[in-house]
Amino acid sequence: MLPFSRITIIGLGLIGSSIARAVRAHMPAARLTGYDADPEVRATATRIRLVDDVADSAGASVVDADFVILCVPVGAMGAVAAEIAADLPSDAIVSDVGSCKESVATALAAALPGATIVPAHPVAGTEQSGPEAGFATLFHGRWCILTPAPQTSASAVERVAEFWLQLGADVETMPADHHDRVLAVTSHLPHLIAYTIVGTASDLEEVTQSEVIKYSAGGFRDFTRIAASDPTMWRDVFLTNREAVLEMLQRFSEDLTALQRAIRWGKGDELFDLFTRTRAIRRGIVEQGQDDAAPDFGRAHE
Ligand code: NAP
Repeated sequence: MLPFSRITIIGLGLIGSSIARAVRAHMPAARLTGYDADPEVRATATRIRLVDDVADSAGASVVDADFVILCVPVGAMGAVAAEIAADLPSDAIVSDVGSCKESVATALAAALPGATIVPAHPVAGTEQSGPEAGFATLFHGRWCILTPAPQTSASAVERVAEFWLQLGADVETMPADHHDRVLAVTSHLPHLIAYTIVGTASDLEEVTQSEVIKYSAGGFRDFTRIAASDPTMWRDVFLTNREAVLEMLQRFSEDLTALQRAIRWGKGDELFDLFTRTRAIRRGIVEQGQDDAAPDFGRAHE
């Protein structure tokens, strides 16, 4: 059974357009309306027939919706929620896909008093942006984390969970602050490290840019993929999940200092033990189907 029949997606970039394609693939009977602040994105969405209707304002896109899903950068969530407040049907459920949950939940609740809100975060993405970067299978076998406030109606949470299950995701529910701490270490800190390494390499004076690019297969290349992620999205993530990221960064700096000391004092056993533990974590990720076991991250080789 369809959890929703009139779905509105606001923000038609990588995640919004992937949801639109996945809804088409898995819930063809649902009517899809889309809106994006960028007129070029709206024109592209119309040209590639991403949704049934492209509205020309956020308010107009929700008038008839039973489910509204906000897929804009985290820092824009509150403003978009305020834009739809006057036109939102009273029985519609509002959700989002933001990478940080506590601040987004607070912003949505403030802008939409009395609305039913079930915040969500599909833990799936790529370093690409825009309506043509999306694909229908993005959420297959990936987790979608719901962070409803305790007073949210159980049936609303169930309908949103069912929506994600039908798109091929696995669903987990947890408090927003716990989500933000978990994602700070599994997603936000790795992005910060990648941005740092790629920035450091490009600032080195004794190693040329062309050498960095030429010999990148030594490990650097995999950081560059993460460091190519959308600047707006990631600026907003760090400013929004500030406390959790700073806490994890503190832990990371201490561990890095311990490694520095182990290298300085030739403590090979310490290094070996850590690298053995980290290898087991990688094995666990592959065993749980969260990545490909093929060598070199599944890249095609001649
Ligand atoms: P994206 O490809 O850049 O798409 C975002 C779209 O929202 C853009 O077209 C943007 O237009 C539009 N937009 C910005 N402000 C708006 C507003 N006020 N009203 C209407 N539309 C607006 O970004 P994305 O990767 O899909 O990310 C969207 C959300 O998904 C973010 O909250 C992010 O945290 C979350 N998320 C991302 C990933 C990932 O890996 N990318 C994974 C999980 C969750 P402009 O082009 O004019 O900016």
